Amino acid sequence: PNPAPGSPLLDPAALAKAISGYHFIGGRYTPARSGKTFDVVNPATGAAVAQAADGDAADVDAAVTEAARAQKEWARMPARKRGALVYQAATLIREHVEELARLVALETGKALRTESRVEANNVADIFEFFGGLGGELKGETVPFGPDVLNVTVREPLGVVGAIIPWNIPMMLMALKAAPALVAGNSIVVKSAEEAPLAVLRIVELMNRVLPAGVFNILSGQGPECGAPLVAHKLVRKVTFTGSVETGRIIARVAADKLIPATLELGGKSPMIVFADCDFEKTVAGALTSMRFTRQGQSCTAASRIFVERPIFDRFVAEMAKRVDAMVMGDPLDEKTDIGTIISPEQFSKVQGFIAEGEKTAGATGRACSAMPSDPALKKGLFIRPYIFTGLTKDSRLVREEIFGPVTTVFPFDSADEVLAEANDSEFGLAATVWTNDLKIALGFAHGLEAGLVQVNQNLVVQPNLSYGGVKNSGLGKEASLESMLEHFTHKKTIMVNMA
Ligand code: NAD
Repeated sequence: PNPAPGSPLLDPAALAKAISGYHFIGGRYTPARSGKTFDVVNPATGAAVAQAADGDAADVDAAVTEAARAQKEWARMPARKRGALVYQAATLIREHVEELARLVALETGKALRTESRVEANNVADIFEFFGGLGGELKGETVPFGPDVLNVTVREPLGVVGAIIPWNIPMMLMALKAAPALVAGNSIVVKSAEEAPLAVLRIVELMNRVLPAGVFNILSGQGPECGAPLVAHKLVRKVTFTGSVETGRIIARVAADKLIPATLELGGKSPMIVFADCDFEKTVAGALTSMRFTRQGQSCTAASRIFVERPIFDRFVAEMAKRVDAMVMGDPLDEKTDIGTIISPEQFSKVQGFIAEGEKTAGATGRACSAMPSDPALKKGLFIRPYIFTGLTKDSRLVREEIFGPVTTVFPFDSADEVLAEANDSEFGLAATVWTNDLKIALGFAHGLEAGLVQVNQNLVVQPNLSYGGVKNSGLGKEASLESMLEHFTHKKTIMVNMA
């Protein structure tokens, strides 16, 4: 049975209801074996918009068994044919971009114009990019002597278990599923509790083109559904995006099973601003780097901003002025710049950080942008963006990932001092440096401990560029040909003696 509409449905509430209560396993919408469901809540209103199937070990076993069966045939298909099918399925995503953007805005509270539509387009880009890479699954020939042929071939790993968070759920699923599938693996995704709908719809759309069983998705809680997926004996690779804490749990299980794990974890990204920067462009860059449009719920959010002292006051004032001008409101309204926080738990966690900052002696917290006035949004999880100055470097606001609209800004006097401070973090995901001095820019590009350093720009996601952190920000890379070859295949060596 396929309860979802065939063509795009732009009313996200109606679509949420239509696909309410299901996993997608073996080419079919499937309820949880236990019959249990949980509410999916619109964070802008507090209202339940759908139910999600509450998966457990029995559902995991059903999905992994289907995936293992389907993978055998899929792996035998020529790689370029697999890629062509993934590309063809991506055209369906492209046709449904607006629908998916509205659905993800409904369940996550991410503003449609500034965030959700951008994400939906990126998803189509990612599947198209990897769809074109089937022919790149090549091996090597290694010389030995006239009677011996030594070759290496790239083989898939089997069933991939993927676990994703809620902040960019569609894109983080695509970065895992696209290379895994083109490489000849099948995949079972466990969606985030808070955002199970848009990713479910994507899997259903792609299953109109892909063979049944190669692309499956379950919804459910971390310990009850995610943990049995990682532990399942037929899962031969795990790929995860989320918190450091969960990443460690998953890595331990993977270590016991001796299977590879790719981990994309948290961040506390520095932004370093020199006085010679292009001031206008850099202030605008601070807003996008901090991802205020997504309430700062970004792993790369510039949550530590260091500004050279001569322009510090002007920079902070201009930044606050611009954040003030951003419109916080209904995520589905085209006028809205900033949507909501994801969940009540995250809401109180962020409020706790703000309260702590406000009572810190010597610190100033500037609350920017106005709360929405629409009475329909009075239960919405809106938090005014905060810019803190005057905190000390050992403050929890400076050391821990807040995952909310809270940034901290510090003046600096010397390049050496600020480089050391920027690197003084357990994380190493992303960093930006803003200057017109090429020597400084390159010095920082080399010196910053991060997986991604950008000079005079903020994050631009490109499917063909490797992405991933160092230190506690993770292990392994996503995006790029390299991610498909290194993380979703193994290299088999074949030696033929013809003597
Ligand atoms: P989380 O770790 O709480 O949850 C992520 C996923 O893991 C969810 O699907 C959850 O159900 C599942 N999970 C929880 N416990 C599990 C267990 N024991 N076994 C298996 N699965 C389990 O993370 P979150 O708070 O939802 O997401 C925010 C985090 O994600 C932040 O730390 C953020 O920095 C990080 N993130 C990183 C990147 C990146 O690319 N590096 C991108 C986006 C988000």
